[in-house]
Amino acid sequence: MTPTLLWFRRDLRLQDNPALMEAIARGGAIVPVFIQEAAGEDQWSEGAASSWWRHRALARLDEALRARGSRLVLARGDAASVLRELIEATGAEAVYWNRRYEPAQVATDRAVKAGLRAAGVEVQSFNSALLFEPQSIANKQGKPFQVFTPYWRHCLALPIAEPVRCAATALPAPASWPRSLALDELGLQPTIPWDGGLRENWEPGEGGAMARLKAFVREGIEGYAEDRNRPDHAGTSRLSPWLHHGEIGPRQIWSAVKAIGRESGVFPPHNGARVFLSEIGWREFAYHLLFHFPRTPEQPLREEFARFPWAEDRGGTKLAAWQRGRTGYPIVDAGLRELWHTGWMHNRVRMIVASFLVKHQRLPWQRGAKWFWDTLVDADLASNTLGWQWSAGCGADAAPYFRIFAPVLQGRKFDPAGDYVRRWVPELARIPVEHIHAPWEAPPAILARAGVTLGENYPRPIVDHAQARAEALAAFKELRRGN
Ligand code: FAD
Repeated sequence: MTPTLLWFRRDLRLQDNPALMEAIARGGAIVPVFIQEAAGEDQWSEGAASSWWRHRALARLDEALRARGSRLVLARGDAASVLRELIEATGAEAVYWNRRYEPAQVATDRAVKAGLRAAGVEVQSFNSALLFEPQSIANKQGKPFQVFTPYWRHCLALPIAEPVRCAATALPAPASWPRSLALDELGLQPTIPWDGGLRENWEPGEGGAMARLKAFVREGIEGYAEDRNRPDHAGTSRLSPWLHHGEIGPRQIWSAVKAIGRESGVFPPHNGARVFLSEIGWREFAYHLLFHFPRTPEQPLREEFARFPWAEDRGGTKLAAWQRGRTGYPIVDAGLRELWHTGWMHNRVRMIVASFLVKHQRLPWQRGAKWFWDTLVDADLASNTLGWQWSAGCGADAAPYFRIFAPVLQGRKFDPAGDYVRRWVPELARIPVEHIHAPWEAPPAILARAGVTLGENYPRPIVDHAQARAEALAAFKELRRGN
């Protein structure tokens, strides 16, 4: 049997990897390959933090393959050309991969598949990334869903496949290995070392993902429904970067949660598990929307929002204040600094900072989405687009535009002791709890005792909440009048 090229993309794992299992079943040598694809015409090639993660994920995958007598061949460039060269070098007659759903990647994969098939190569693709692939789900009218609750109800009535287990201790290697680039040659590492916080916080790789899942299922999931909104607690799974890079798949998560309830025979075993699984459902929904509405990373799903009267930002100073966590609103600044330092931000705070950008600063949501894209280790075109359009009120099932998060109230409610703010905005650490979320309201003596001089070592609020709210509502009214 001739070799199979196993093209790894966003499925950087050996377990629950159907393309790998089918390559084993086909027989013959397996040549695992990863291609750092040339940036396409869209602006969504992997951002800096996500590339940082990918570098390490590829190193871990290569180690896992080498432990089985195999290795990861690395290449750079246009996927079709690289695959053609590898076919020539190895004599492979089959190429297997797991599917992707982003518009540019769907187009690439279709073209590569057609080209290879025309050249007589066997090509097969599989699903490793989702519980319910977008092309297989439609509402009663045969249309894509645009509201989460009916979407998820529909999905929950369908069977969910068990993860496929790879028990192979050895993978058949080719007689000789084709040329590979060194990992460093993929250019994924930062050129200036800003990544200290990422290194402290994360352990990319399939092993890290499984360890995180096990710990969460053991300790976190039961209280998830209550704790998930508290950025001051580690109340969520933090699985998002591993999920994005495919070091773990949703079927493995589903199966681990199912195992909790096995003894009682009840599924989901408790409310924490039910709510957690519905968040996995939001990820599925995000892919459903991106696949069926491929213009949404740039354009609002609700078309009338394309005419929204955004505010001006001469010189980009408003955006810069937001990006650097210097808005003068502690919960907003804490979130943006957590993001910069760790490459991740708590979901509640993502909603708060996104709302602040689009409603208090009235800057286009696409600018925030771009910043997240570059700084998140879990930057994901589907979830990021959904999250930003939801926050801006212009997406599917979105928060209505006129519902404007008040950052001070959000801070008091979800970070009641101010611990999250103290951690990420250390210049406010000595402010007593009653003033931590609105330091400009604190009496001067308290600020002085805490060592805070507003406008010097911590900014005054860059917008007034009441005024910003009124202006946002007026802009929304103007939009509606124009329709
Ligand atoms: P958990 O609460 O433990 O949830 C488990 C998993 O469910 C997550 O890992 C994630 O895969 C999925 N999930 C949870 N909430 C959501 C959600 N609201 N939408 C879609 N999937 C969800 N998530 C990303 O993975 N990448 C992004 O680029 C991204 N950008 C976002 C931008 C904005 C403005 C907002 C409001 C949300 C964004 N999210 C994004 C969704 C969510 O914030 C993260 O998935 C979540 O914070 C990850 O933390 P966790 O793994 O601890 O989540």
